[in-house]
Amino acid sequence: MPQKISVQDNKLYVPNDPIIPVIEGDGVGPELWATVKPILEAAAQKTGRRVHFQAFPAGEVAYAKYNKHLPEETLQALKEHRVSIKGPLSTPVGGGIRSLNVFIRQALDLYACVRPISHIKGVPSPVKAPQKLNMVIFRENTEDVYAGLEWPSGSSDAEALAQFLRLQLNVPLAPSPALGIKPMTQKASKRLVRMAIEWAIKNKCPSVTLVHKGNIMKYTEGAFRTWGYEVAKTEFGLQTVPESEKEPSDERIVIKDRIADNMFMQTLLRPDEYSVIATPNLNGDYLSDALAAQIGGLGIAPGANIGDGIAVFEAIHGTAPKYTGKDFANPSSLLLSGALMLDYLGWEDAGVLIRKALSNVIGLGFMTGDLARQLPEATPVGTRAFGEKILKVL
Ligand code: NAD
Repeated sequence: MPQKISVQDNKLYVPNDPIIPVIEGDGVGPELWATVKPILEAAAQKTGRRVHFQAFPAGEVAYAKYNKHLPEETLQALKEHRVSIKGPLSTPVGGGIRSLNVFIRQALDLYACVRPISHIKGVPSPVKAPQKLNMVIFRENTEDVYAGLEWPSGSSDAEALAQFLRLQLNVPLAPSPALGIKPMTQKASKRLVRMAIEWAIKNKCPSVTLVHKGNIMKYTEGAFRTWGYEVAKTEFGLQTVPESEKEPSDERIVIKDRIADNMFMQTLLRPDEYSVIATPNLNGDYLSDALAAQIGGLGIAPGANIGDGIAVFEAIHGTAPKYTGKDFANPSSLLLSGALMLDYLGWEDAGVLIRKALSNVIGLGFMTGDLARQLPEATPVGTRAFGEKILKVL
């Protein structure tokens, strides 16, 4: 009998035969899922488990059937079963929910967007030594300029806010400004950094770097840095040490901080000096895609949105409408997100099997078109054939 994953005392309890909800997604989502599902099932089976994927409607399919992009039943299933996997959802154009993805993250309080970035040998990269990259980005998912607090120039709300700022706070604003607010709280910043440090401890990572723009935005980004160091000191004092206090013999995890613009340069010049990154929303958004580009792009980098005892694993790319139904899209991002999900369940052995099988197939020169077209010596294969090859060597 398939069972539910549960949470007790903040700990995830995963049976050997869990039910995992799936949102197949729009565009290339269903064809990618059809390729990835048997690989995840086989990896679970080979390591002595059985995973029961249960599809729930969302996106265009749900809209056509229920007149709703995200039926309540689907949201409930994601909540109730704790761990799920989803394909890309197109953002409905005109009215309704601003973005289904953002809505799901907010509704489930998935406060960290987690992106592991490491290079698979053979994948074309724009940098000379992509193998030096081995980072995991923890991007705060709920606050910052992404909170949606902004008002258009000339609107009555913007005018009212501008007047308040001019009169009450003596802010010299030019006429008719568009305005946005960047809220950042101690609670949200600390829980994000806490999760990053816990990951570093669990995975024996050498450092956690707080990436911020606190030199300019002192009370938001600067506070993120301060709160980050505070969490490290008060909650993980035995396991971490600030970079400024580190002695050569100290083997604790080093807590560093870097200003965001410098960090972009560091990721190109000295990527091997960084391991886990914790950063506010906007910096994290930019950094995640810039780093994904270094290891082969959107088709191959995995992702997850994680909260406390709840997580949704998802490919980092969108619906790729131009490749829909063409048996062309790269399933690796979704597959590696699935492998990350298996790690999260505590099934790291199954995750390892998948990563090895994917590297083996790529090592033999087989790649989907997005990568193969960059390498004359590669053999291009379609989505399905690529998945079959992975399944064969698993
Ligand atoms: P996209 O990620 O779909 O496409 C960007 C580029 O990458 C395109 O050239 C596309 O063909 C290519 N690409 C994407 N995935 C690929 C894959 N697996 N293999 C090979 N090539 C791939 O982004 P977009 O075009 O900006 O957005 C299309 C739709 O997806 C929009 O409705 C957007 O809102 C949505 N979207 C959803 C998510 C999500 O569900 N998390 C993320 C991003 C965009």
